[in-house]
Amino acid sequence: MKFYNLKENEEQVSFAQAVKQGLGKNQGLFFPEDIPALDNVDELLAMSLVERSVHVLAPFVAGDLTKDELAEIVTNAFNFPAQIQPISEQRSVLELFHGPTLAFKDFGARFMAQCLQKFTNGQKITILTATSGDTGAAVAHAFHGLENIRVVILYPKGKISLLQEKMFTTLGGNIETIAIEGSFDDCQALVKQSFDDKELAQAIGLNSANSINISRLLAQVCYYFEAVAQLKRQNSQLDDIVFSVPSGNFGNLTAGLFAKAMGLPIKRFVAATNANDTVPRYLATGEWAPKATVATISNAMDVSNPNNWPRVEHMLKAGIVDECVSSISVDEEQTQSTMLQLNKLGYISEPHAAVAYKALGHCEDNEFGVFLGTAHPAKFKDVVESTLGQPIALPKELADCAGEKILSVDMNADFAGLRAYLLK
Ligand SMILES: *Cc1c(COP(=O)(O)O)cnc(C)c1O
Repeated sequence: MKFYNLKENEEQVSFAQAVKQGLGKNQGLFFPEDIPALDNVDELLAMSLVERSVHVLAPFVAGDLTKDELAEIVTNAFNFPAQIQPISEQRSVLELFHGPTLAFKDFGARFMAQCLQKFTNGQKITILTATSGDTGAAVAHAFHGLENIRVVILYPKGKISLLQEKMFTTLGGNIETIAIEGSFDDCQALVKQSFDDKELAQAIGLNSANSINISRLLAQVCYYFEAVAQLKRQNSQLDDIVFSVPSGNFGNLTAGLFAKAMGLPIKRFVAATNANDTVPRYLATGEWAPKATVATISNAMDVSNPNNWPRVEHMLKAGIVDECVSSISVDEEQTQSTMLQLNKLGYISEPHAAVAYKALGHCEDNEFGVFLGTAHPAKFKDVVESTLGQPIALPKELADCAGEKILSVDMNADFAGLRAYLLK
């Protein structure tokens, strides 16, 4: 299938090119020329996650991957479950944090890594990315051990939790990590400078594993199908399903809208944000007016200019989906009281999922609400323990890396130094 640039419509590329390139001209996002409606959704729902995902993804990758290649990629990428957990009569959570780095970003990062390895075809490339936590871990684990791919991850020294740091700095092999004396913004600026340096980019085959990459979004479509499949297995009469998506850059919501456009029976979506409420204000007033980003306890959603919003807007304006998105902002106090409320229902939640659960509050009686559990509560151990007033156990993935040695090198926020390092 062809993908076109939402800003410069005449730029059209293959799936492989869109994955390798990331962004189009003028920073435009790639979008599929067609989102095929599937006519066999009931049949698909009866399949396993891996088997079904091959069917869901096949039309998008046609021309670049054979069915067998796609099946191999999906099998390697989705080697952990997405799991529906009932919370109450009308509410369930879709747990997306059973992958190697305990966050939903594992789905997209692993699928992207497998695709990229296929498309670069033995040619050496360097993935350069800056992280303030979750993305770095997902990218590091997804690419770890893949031949001919060197991964360099920059992060602000001393500004992320030790456990977070250990999740991506202890792997070694093709994963190199650099602790920058500076802020997350300094790290991002260094990445941008590297991409702007065409000679450097060419020399080391520079690529980003950015969250706007179309492969990451397409992978995420698959777990909406899995959620509905599990819900229908529990109750075949179930209708009027509402998904509440804790949203930062709105990639997760975009994937949900793709699933609906393909014919998955979803009634509507609630895009739940924290105090960074550009989208709920936009839907209420029609005015796009980002404010300065504020820090919250659901920090993976501390985004005031969400980079996937143009895709959502396009789908709504072009009628690819009907008017099915509302958006609600949840403040810090509500987030913490919701964590306590969920704990009373027997469920330990971290702040992002709590924001999404709270945002389901206005569902109608006949609607069944599913909120997305985007991270394991242990990834936000400090705030979960202090809010709930009880200790929580570390899952194996975190306990294992806690004792490992950090392999990072230290560097000043200085481009010349980074450039020399990358060329060595
Ligand atoms: C990245 C992230 C989000 C936000 O997802 P988007 O696709 O950027 O909207 C929500 N929760 C957690 C835990 C995350 O890591």
